[in-house]
Amino acid sequence: MSKSHRGKGIRSLVNRGRGTCGRCKKENIKVLYEHEIDGQKATVCKFCNAAIKNGKAAAV
Ligand SMILES: [Zn+2]
Repeated sequence: MSKSHRGKGIRSLVNRGRGTCGRCKKENIKVLYEHEIDGQKATVCKFCNAAIKNGKAAAV
C-alpha cells in the first residue's frame, strides 16, 4: 500500500510510469494517477492529482 507510486513499484508500468500528463500535457513526466477528465479516464501527474483533489479539475 505504501509508496505505490514510487521506486520499484512503478518500474513495471508502461515506460516506467512516465508519459504525457492528461491534464497539463507535460511530457516525460511520471503519470501515476488516474482521474476522469471530461468523462474520460486519463492518467495525470502528481501536481494535477493534487489540483484535482483540491477541486480545480476545470482549470489547467
Ligand atoms: Zn499534469
